[in-house]
Amino acid sequence: RAKERGGNRYEVADPDADARAITRHGLTNQLPSALRHGEFFVEYQPLIGLEDGAVLGAEALVRWLHPVHGVLGPDQFIPLAESTGQIVPLGRWVLQQAAQQARDWHDLQFTGPAPRINVNLSPVQLSHPDLVAEVVAVLEETRLQPSALCLEVTESALIGADEDALKPLRRIADLGVAIALDDFGTGYSNLSSLRWLPVSVLKLDRSFTRGMRQHPADPVEMKIVEGIVSLAHTLNLTVTVEGVETRTQAEHLRALGCDTAQGWYYGKAGPADQLHTLTLADAS
Ligand code: C2E
Ligand code: MG
Ligand code: MG
Ligand code: MG
Repeated sequence: RAKERGGNRYEVADPDADARAITRHGLTNQLPSALRHGEFFVEYQPLIGLEDGAVLGAEALVRWLHPVHGVLGPDQFIPLAESTGQIVPLGRWVLQQAAQQARDWHDLQFTGPAPRINVNLSPVQLSHPDLVAEVVAVLEETRLQPSALCLEVTESALIGADEDALKPLRRIADLGVAIALDDFGTGYSNLSSLRWLPVSVLKLDRSFTRGMRQHPADPVEMKIVEGIVSLAHTLNLTVTVEGVETRTQAEHLRALGCDTAQGWYYGKAGPADQLHTLTLADAS
């Protein structure tokens, strides 16, 4: 490999790198059977309305209970699944699970208004020709109203996408499904693209709120978030903030007019029934 880069350069062998490569390779090969054997599971992180602290729904986050390595987080296998295309059946499975879970919540009516379910979409799924049909099928199978579903796509998946590439997303949005721009602010976002992207929710990355852990908050950070919220609201977008870890952050974000929040302060991702026990009092 060092040779491929040409010249007289050589690299010192890194035994850990080999071990990592083998593990990666192994995991990649195991993805298809893991899905067949039911080794994946979905956890749910509550989504909170900042105004009154109500639980509005949850984001579905996939995990892999690996027979040897234990529980693996998405960062450890989603990139692998994307590189082989396995993300397509895996992502479809997560969508089915999450939509069915939302259906069950609706049947329980655990907090009045129908809880929303957010599901992450990989760019690979976005460019797959069956995506729209799959979303339609899942909505029909689960009898979930489209407005209870929100699909999260990252900025980087949409940056540079032309009108053709956006067509499936537009059709999904036309069904009444919400589309969220995930990890907003971590990529090279063109703020003016918000005008024409079929997006109705901005999810602010948690890097924006680090300086809000204390009173007084970092004034520049406050101004930046204030500006984003004002722009988003002008464009009729809802603002969700990720990674809220302290009460102080929650207070600042509420004062800045952010609409919804997610983070360890309210609850980590966990089994579906943890949402049943979250009450208004817990969340505020
Ligand atoms: P994301 O969509 O931005 O999800 C939020 C991540 O932040 C989750 O990590 C969540 O556990 C973590 N988080 C939530 N609250 C806090 C907090 O207060 N503090 C901190 N430090 N972290 C917090 P997780 O579960 O490891 O997921 C990582 C990423 O993997 C997700 O980022 C998402 O992009 C991706 N992902 C998860 N599930 C799926 C899936 O089903 N399909 C696809 N394509 N991607 C997924
Ligand atoms: Mg997300
Ligand atoms: Mg995110
Ligand atoms: Mg993030």
